[in-house]
Amino acid sequence: MITMNQVSKQFGDLVVLKDINLEVKQGKVVVVIGPSGSGKTTLLRCLNILEQPEQGSITIDQQTVDFSKKVNKKEILSFRKQSGMVFQTYNLFPHFTALENVMEGPVTVQGVNKAKARKRAAELLEKVGLSEKLDVYPYQLSGGQQQRVGIARAMAIDPKVMLFDEPTSALDPELVGEVLLVMKQLAEEGRTMVVVTHEMKFAKDVADEVIFMDNGIIVERGKPDELFSQPKAQRTKEFLSLIN
Ligand code: ADP
Repeated sequence: MITMNQVSKQFGDLVVLKDINLEVKQGKVVVVIGPSGSGKTTLLRCLNILEQPEQGSITIDQQTVDFSKKVNKKEILSFRKQSGMVFQTYNLFPHFTALENVMEGPVTVQGVNKAKARKRAAELLEKVGLSEKLDVYPYQLSGGQQQRVGIARAMAIDPKVMLFDEPTSALDPELVGEVLLVMKQLAEEGRTMVVVTHEMKFAKDVADEVIFMDNGIIVERGKPDELFSQPKAQRTKEFLSLIN
């Protein structure tokens, strides 16, 4: 479902991703871990071209973008529709209700009619456990609830893949579980997901594969039980010993 082929990205002189190769099969969950500044967020942002790599190519499903050539805006917009992104800070529109936040993408980006978008948005909010909160505004919701609206919103465009960028790191500890539970349910439904997170328990329980990044490269990858209990690279061992 996702292939990154020799993707490199730099900001000025700083090389943030170096020749990244990654493959995610349909229905699989890949969790990306690594120290702060290692390039995890940039990798995720490249996957929906919020950042544009200088080299390499990315394929999602049938669509490939080759960054060694000039990429036009239309191509980017069409590519971006294939993924739903959930951000660390929920980025909800404050003047829209929960329902309107979820409807916005389908109506404005996909041209879905409002009645249909409303029905689908209500279903998605029900799915994330917020059927009682359709008409409330973000400020009336807890952080965990806002993030669940964020997940429903990302799903509203029926993306082929879901991308999560540290979705629980801005939350109070007692609100983390409800968001992880929704993510776990999505994984169990067979959604293809790439998740950047510091929640190692989630990685152990839900990931099909864990990727350890450091300094812009993928240092090591493997099944969670293998990578966590028998890391091969010294850098992985050091990182895991620091967080455990
Ligand atoms: P992580 O998610 O692993 O913490 P990031 O992908 O956010 O790492 O960042 C990787 C490196 O790229 C860091 O050194 C960061 O400072 C730098 N960086 C990220 N975004 C930008 C940007 N827009 N402009 C300049 N440097 C950036």
